[in-house]
Amino acid sequence: MKSRGGRIVLLAVGLWLPVMMPALVVAGGPDQMRGGRPATAADSSPAGFDPVAATEAYLAKVSPDQRARSDAYFEGGYWLQLWGFLYGAAVAILLLATRLSAGMRDLAVRITRVTVLQTALYWIFYLVVTTVLSFPLSVYAGFFREHKYGLSTQTFGPWLGDQAKGLAIGAVLGAVALMAIYAVIRRAPRTWWLWGAGVSLVFVVFTIAIAPVFIEPVFNKYTPLTDKKIKDPILRLARANGIPATDVFVFDASRQTTRVSANVAGFLGTQRIALNDNLLNRCSLPEIESVMAHEMGHYVLNHIFKSLVQIGLLIVAGFAFVRWAFNRVGARWGSRWAIGGIADVAGLPLLVLLLSVFFFVLTPVTNTMIRTQEVEADIFGLNAARQPDGEAEVALKLGEYRKLKPGPVEEFIFFDHPSGYSRILMAMRWKAENLPER
Ligand SMILES: [Zn+2]
Repeated sequence: MKSRGGRIVLLAVGLWLPVMMPALVVAGGPDQMRGGRPATAADSSPAGFDPVAATEAYLAKVSPDQRARSDAYFEGGYWLQLWGFLYGAAVAILLLATRLSAGMRDLAVRITRVTVLQTALYWIFYLVVTTVLSFPLSVYAGFFREHKYGLSTQTFGPWLGDQAKGLAIGAVLGAVALMAIYAVIRRAPRTWWLWGAGVSLVFVVFTIAIAPVFIEPVFNKYTPLTDKKIKDPILRLARANGIPATDVFVFDASRQTTRVSANVAGFLGTQRIALNDNLLNRCSLPEIESVMAHEMGHYVLNHIFKSLVQIGLLIVAGFAFVRWAFNRVGARWGSRWAIGGIADVAGLPLLVLLLSVFFFVLTPVTNTMIRTQEVEADIFGLNAARQPDGEAEVALKLGEYRKLKPGPVEEFIFFDHPSGYSRILMAMRWKAENLPER
């Protein structure tokens, strides 16, 4: 599961949203594996255990009403991605076409003569204006819709408070990042996309590294798990898999949501594994063990580092696309919008728009990058915890907000974690091959 704090910061730092999402999502709740080869009767274990029948039996535990509800929530999310993209594009075009963006740059120039500070000031103006313009969609998606499906535990005040915190963090982090990137653009007008991608990646690493220490605690309280009945088996699991952990952390996600989740976060020495209090309160020990073993899989398999490599490549490609497209769009409309070349900060809405087009189109690619790691973590988790039924039960709980049985194409395009069906089938196959011989 992605961390809530991380997600809010990403939303606030609009520019970084598409870039950093995959990195933070690496921290995952238990997932399922990708569809893969359909199981047949030949898959039945010698003991006569049929993984497909066992998977269907698990799915049958969910009432049709519940299934319909979670399908509707998740499928609505597909549309929300499209509306979010279009809404963001409309806001960007509005800022450019009304010359509001050029006006904000001019105001920043009047306030200070220091170029990097002009960039920072523009960013603050931009962030406030886009946040206000996007507010209707944010409230619908983040508040009303979550309540409609019974997933939110927050009243409006605390929700708004979290948004404000995210905005403040985004203002600071975004300003620092943009000052660096525009400095690079000014210094290397032709090769900025390469250097700029490098600077962006450094910034992504920095954000991931500080998140567990400085960002996540802003939204939730992290405390060491004290219940020995849960902590001891988790630490045993960690030691058995070469993880030098002495503490497991619990965070109070129940102040925001009813969702069950856990994550691995941090980089360069700040790594930690945390589970949320919903998981702790609602799950049995075998279920918790299966989740924590999955999270340990992310850790042992170096998923954060591998994601950074993948993200680095995507950022380079994305910036190359921006370099190509910005010049073309700028040549056509630049003077009408009163923006100069790529080095003009008033062109930020166009830069963001182009990046969001790039990452919107690549949604199935980024989802598959993440989902592939989630499958790896699942396999690791099953082998480490040896709790296939725990895994299946948790997959059902995750099915409260994730469609349980999508079609293969749907899963490929929209799922950043495997579906409940895929995950339970994977667990049942594992179980079939590990049943004691009779
Ligand atoms: Zn995961």
